[in-house]
Amino acid sequence: MKVLVINAGSSSIKYQLYQMPEANVLAKGVVERIGEAGSVLSQKSDSKEHVFETEIKNHKQGMNLILETLATGESKVIDDIQDIQAVGHRVVHGGEEFSGSVVIDDDVIASIEKFADLAPLHNPPNLTGIKAAQENLPNAKQVACFDTAFHASIPKVAYMYGLPYDIYEKYRVRRYGFHGTSHNYVARRAAEVLGKDFKDVKLITCHLGNGCSITAVKDGKSIDTSMGLTPLEGVMMGTRCGDIDPAIIFYLKDKGYDVDEINKMCNKQSGLLGISGKSNDMRNLLEAVDEGDKQAELAVDMFSYRIKKYIGMYFAVLNGVDAIIFTGGIGENSTPVRERICTDLSAMGVKMDTALNDETVRKEGKISTEDSSVNVYIIPTDEEYAIAHDTFELTQ
Ligand code: ADP
Repeated sequence: MKVLVINAGSSSIKYQLYQMPEANVLAKGVVERIGEAGSVLSQKSDSKEHVFETEIKNHKQGMNLILETLATGESKVIDDIQDIQAVGHRVVHGGEEFSGSVVIDDDVIASIEKFADLAPLHNPPNLTGIKAAQENLPNAKQVACFDTAFHASIPKVAYMYGLPYDIYEKYRVRRYGFHGTSHNYVARRAAEVLGKDFKDVKLITCHLGNGCSITAVKDGKSIDTSMGLTPLEGVMMGTRCGDIDPAIIFYLKDKGYDVDEINKMCNKQSGLLGISGKSNDMRNLLEAVDEGDKQAELAVDMFSYRIKKYIGMYFAVLNGVDAIIFTGGIGENSTPVRERICTDLSAMGVKMDTALNDETVRKEGKISTEDSSVNVYIIPTDEEYAIAHDTFELTQ
């Protein structure tokens, strides 16, 4: 069975075509700059890179081009687009309604629309991707995989904010959490690697990419996570500030900033970029640190320190931990960041093996010493595979 995985953003569509259940990736690509100048599709298949620069006005055209690329010319990997029997879509916000992936029907679409005000940058393009796929592949089943779903198990004591209760009742203001597909995937894999039942491990999973979140996993469930109503809460990220005193917003408003400016500041101009004044990209910052850039050093130190604080909190929440897992672009690659986070955690039973840390880059592996009572592992995430897996399971 061929399963197409779609991750539609505001001006891009990322895609991967899988042969399931073998999980062979037949093609992987992205359409970028939809509706802008210089729109382009690039696809890797048969170990070749195919690039098509052409006008792509909207997501429907983008989806047309993806299907054409998959089924015709030199980039062809299938004979007929109708061979695609199912499409799995990444959807960011599923509100309180979804605790797992679902086959899409009109009610699911209405819910994704309803939650667009909680994820205005993500749910509308996700929906556009679903509609474009439905129009182009009317016979294929469509599945939605929500970033929030894995966190549906978080107990009320952890998902409520200390605001008046009717704010929750009226507006469903609460912690939802994100990156759920990734946390779930690496946590399950960690249980396998540890040789334990998923329902029987205590894990702290650290997804560190451009966006970053930390999750406490117990009894096979997410029981707390650092992102909240939106992905802005939690640890410091590439351009997001993470946790700040909410009173800073009122204070800045008094100083003449309007709410839109503060929103942009917190989401796009803060974090690694805001502190370093240089870049949101960890690679650039680590180079700058090596060259003696003090602001870059502060940014990397703050980033690592805040992750360490969350690990400490979740150690308490879980009452002990079997393993800490690092994943995402920074988690899988940035050895100096992992070293900063895990240094001086011995009272919690964490002892990092610096040689293993240095050599475990972009691959799975243990980076703690044999006598560390808490294991530390790198587990590369694979959200696309997780979506393909759920889509296959739900549509056979
Ligand atoms: P996204 O959240 O957009 O999926 P990624 O998971 O790809 O992002 O992570 C992007 C981050 O990973 C960037 O900060 C990037 O600098 C960092 N990263 C990727 N490769 C490396 C590397 N080799 N060394 C250090 N950081 C890296």
